[in-house]
Amino acid sequence: MRVIVVGAGLAGLSAAGPLADAGHEVVLHDKGRSPGGRLATRRIGDAVLDHGAQFFTVRSDAFVEFVRPHLASGLVYEWCRGFDGNDGYPRYAVRGGMNALAKALAEPLDVRTNSLVFAIRTTPSTGTETGSGDRWQVVLDDGTVEVADALVVTCPVPQSYSLLVSAGVELPVDLIRTGYDRTIVLLATLDGPSAMAAPGGLQHPTETLSFVSDNHRKGISDGQALTVHAGAAWSEAHWDDANEDLVTQLTAAAAPFIGSVNITESQIKKWRFATPRTIWPEPCWSLDTPAGRLVLAGDAFAGPKIEGAVLSGLAAAEVLLT
Ligand SMILES: Cc1cc2nc3c(=O)[nH]c(=O)nc-3n(C[C@H](O)[C@H](O)[C@H](O)COP(=O)(O)OP(=O)(O)OC[C@H]3O[C@@H](n4cnc5c(N)ncnc54)[C@H](O)[C@@H]3O)c2cc1C
Repeated sequence: MRVIVVGAGLAGLSAAGPLADAGHEVVLHDKGRSPGGRLATRRIGDAVLDHGAQFFTVRSDAFVEFVRPHLASGLVYEWCRGFDGNDGYPRYAVRGGMNALAKALAEPLDVRTNSLVFAIRTTPSTGTETGSGDRWQVVLDDGTVEVADALVVTCPVPQSYSLLVSAGVELPVDLIRTGYDRTIVLLATLDGPSAMAAPGGLQHPTETLSFVSDNHRKGISDGQALTVHAGAAWSEAHWDDANEDLVTQLTAAAAPFIGSVNITESQIKKWRFATPRTIWPEPCWSLDTPAGRLVLAGDAFAGPKIEGAVLSGLAAAEVLLT
């Protein structure tokens, strides 16, 4: 089979791995500059800042297996066992920043970055040529069209839906209605150590903020740098504020964690589709069509976390392999 995977976030990457291992021709397209999606890391000077997912937990056996080689190689490490005291459950992070895990997964795969999928449609069968038949067509933003025998679409659901409209695929109404919380992020480099104590992370530290992370204490950054996530309600209410106003307000909200040092550079990042509010009851959604199988996957299917995205991707691969 020739399989096209739309989206090279964790769901797309973890779907593509087993499919490629099974001998299928797998191509991933991602509109981003590098693979990873919400597993995102940015560099500012000598600082490395995770600005999407900050850490992950491991619950299911399948995810334990998935993580095992990366723990063994040292790429994944235990950051801490709780942010407000030790609750016994490991929180894992990635050496060099969370995006390094996506890069490692992408390394053996055919991942095309800066490759925006513009539309998905099917080729009508002429029925006259030997072996001819409907196939999926994936239209890229440069106008090229790729064909596939099966499709895995892993964008946030509203984006997947808009891509599939042109193919006439009807998604379940409850799936189409999946809503997402937004997250506004302040990235700030500092001229000295922040006021945050070990381990350098705090969940829901104030009403405005959902997470604050000291990337130096976390162990991924030489330079001193904080990542500050605004909570869903605040992000929604301030979505259209000017970036300079967001910097001012989030700097004030994070003042207790910045302490007495100075900010040397600030950047704002906005995640429109940060967290799905509802989770589809199956780990992926699939449909058999004359053009081949279609599978939708992502964290809206198996849980709004790194583990959920991976489990959904693995489930998508399993659907195509059975
Ligand atoms: C701010 C923030 C903090 C988080 N913190 C945590 C955390 O601490 N722990 C945790 O476990 N989880 C966390 N999460 C959730 C976690 O990051 C996600 O659940 C997971 O990364 C989702 O992976 P995915 O593959 O389903 O989706 P994504 O990572 O969104 O991947 C989808 C991909 O599709 C691509 N794409 C979209 N449209 C197109 C198109 N038309 N053409 C080509 N490509 C396209 C995108 O570029 C993207 O790379 C956080 C998320 C955010 C936003």
